[in-house]
Amino acid sequence: MDVARLRAETPGCAKVVHLNNAGSALPTQRTLAATLDHLRLEAEIGGYEAADREHDRIEAFYPSVAKLIGAQPDEIAFIENATRAWDMAFYSLAFAPGDCILTCRSEYSSNYISYLQVAHKTGAEIVTIPDDAHGQIDVKALAERVDRRTKLISINHVPTQGGLVNPAAEVGKVARAAGVPYLLDACQTVGQIPIDVAAIGCDFLSATGRKYLRGPRGTGFLYARRETTAHLEPIFLDNHAARWTGATTYEVRPDARRFENWERYYGGVLGLAAAVDQANALGVDAIWTRIQALSAALRQRLARLPGVTLTDLGAVKCGIVTFTVDGANHDAIRTALRARDINVSISTKFSSRLDMDGRGLETVIRASVHIYNTEDELDRFVAALQAVRNA
Ligand SMILES: *Cc1c(COP(=O)(O)O)cnc(C)c1O
Repeated sequence: MDVARLRAETPGCAKVVHLNNAGSALPTQRTLAATLDHLRLEAEIGGYEAADREHDRIEAFYPSVAKLIGAQPDEIAFIENATRAWDMAFYSLAFAPGDCILTCRSEYSSNYISYLQVAHKTGAEIVTIPDDAHGQIDVKALAERVDRRTKLISINHVPTQGGLVNPAAEVGKVARAAGVPYLLDACQTVGQIPIDVAAIGCDFLSATGRKYLRGPRGTGFLYARRETTAHLEPIFLDNHAARWTGATTYEVRPDARRFENWERYYGGVLGLAAAVDQANALGVDAIWTRIQALSAALRQRLARLPGVTLTDLGAVKCGIVTFTVDGANHDAIRTALRARDINVSISTKFSSRLDMDGRGLETVIRASVHIYNTEDELDRFVAALQAVRNA
């Protein structure tokens, strides 16, 4: 990987040491231009007219995303963020009293809040599968817990609060064997870790544009497996998802775009398509190799600092590096680093209560690396961390 070139193509690299890639990564100049050019075109010739003129490039979003995750273009829906993409799948499923939703301890706040809402409304039951010795979902315990009351298996691939990578394909084997729908929150993995939905065996996969894909904010997508969704009616319908065929009738679109809504951020679609094309061109295998090397190098540096405790779980660890600093105010550290143009973020227990409460963690500092980061930047970050901590 030509890191100097990657950095030259990324305007933000000249301004900041960006270690908040799990929050929102830096886009390339080309992705930025794809979005801005379309916003300009809308202003100059009209929004509908701009969409017509760029029709073919907008449509190319679907095959690009499909290629990235091993899907078919008609299995992809553009949705404004990962949460809404996930919601469109989750809330479209029907639950009755006694139905079970199986999930994992590291589950993301928004997802878990939705389980709670549906459990409270319908009498469905949330079953949280324990972690194994590595801190990832215990696949054996999952397989033993699946029964005829199981209506959904729903987990995250990588949680927001750490480097853990859940064994998504192993979970998929359990789901397929039991014939249970499987929803995978891949918000932190798409663009970071190679994804093949056929190998994973999921029915739905949700992702966001702005994180490891380096797309614009306000973009995301849902993968919905053709066989699963052909007869699944989305929780919301509009005149794009369905057609008003007669005074009392309507017909739902046959493809995954039944989960979309009509109005959208076209500049964002084009920006995300550009970002996905770049990920495809670089190859997510190569991206993953570099991210693993950089995050291992960062963990090594942090492990040497007294009072710093790494908090990443998992047999396989990704680009999200989290840690605590003894006796320090994590928010103050983040703010002091930002004043030095070094970006990290904080994960709080509100983003993943079961995991964080279970480990007695209130907050962790999250330094998440991407391909354009350098070992030199890691050194600068670690030196700055020590300086602000002693300040
Ligand atoms: C960020 C994140 C989400 C939410 O994504 P949005 O695009 O903000 O809706 C969901 N799950 C995980 C694991 C995340 O890290």
